[in-house]
Amino acid sequence: MQENILSILNLRKIYHDPTGETVAIDNLNIDIKDKEIVAFVGPSGCGKSTLLAILAGLEKESDGKILFNGRKKIGFMLQTDCLMPWRTVLENSLIGLEISKTLNQESRKKVLELLDKYGLKDFQDKYPSSLSGGMKQRVALIRTLATNPDILLLDEPYSALDYQTRLALSNDLYKIIKAEGKTVLMITHDIAEAISLADRIVVLTKRPCKIKKIYDVNLTNKGLPIENRKAPEFSYYYDMIWRDLDVHI
Ligand code: ADP
Ligand code: MG
Repeated sequence: MQENILSILNLRKIYHDPTGETVAIDNLNIDIKDKEIVAFVGPSGCGKSTLLAILAGLEKESDGKILFNGRKKIGFMLQTDCLMPWRTVLENSLIGLEISKTLNQESRKKVLELLDKYGLKDFQDKYPSSLSGGMKQRVALIRTLATNPDILLLDEPYSALDYQTRLALSNDLYKIIKAEGKTVLMITHDIAEAISLADRIVVLTKRPCKIKKIYDVNLTNKGLPIENRKAPEFSYYYDMIWRDLDVHI
């Protein structure tokens, strides 16, 4: 059994604004294991982004605790790639290091290696506008990896992309996070993406978000995400989670 890298205890978040208060998260508890990929699915507006923002330290919890097992570095990747159009691919990839004032010869070398390893070496001096949507997301991922985080927080990282690109990127993402040995918490609204990629899927209730159900994803011949979609258990998980989400239009 792997040890926990992170425990969330009785987490509660209330936003206060002039019109009143919004309870976004209500008593959420979960342990995350080292190197685990956990996908969170839940209705729009239920509090998913709030959860990641608290884990990243961008929002303060109203109650409860986040316990990290030792000092852990967090990398946060947002829904859109947020690359700066006036910076080259390399300059974009270095930005996290600049902000954290850890850009030096060694860290720069590591970023160059990542760009090389993941097929972006020939593009490092190009601007984002010359890249496809999928490649921009890969740059965004490398930028997130540049500071060498232990835990990656991905907030619907591929939702702005078309279906084919998302499929290809799910394989890409999986290979990269396994090769780099990261723990991943990701939000997705795509049930199939969650099943194909994650070790566990956490289904959240509508706001205020609580845990409705947790699935251990056990697939026959589990491997790369695209292949996982062919597993016999795939539709079982899909149906169960679809039912849990209880979507109405
Ligand atoms: P999700 O990512 O699941 O769509 P969010 O975490 O973004 O949901 O939002 C959860 C709820 O909290 C929503 O009702 C949203 O309007 C509210 N909310 C989010 N951020 C703030 C904020 N900074 N101030 C006030 N309310 C907020
Ligand atoms: Mg969100």
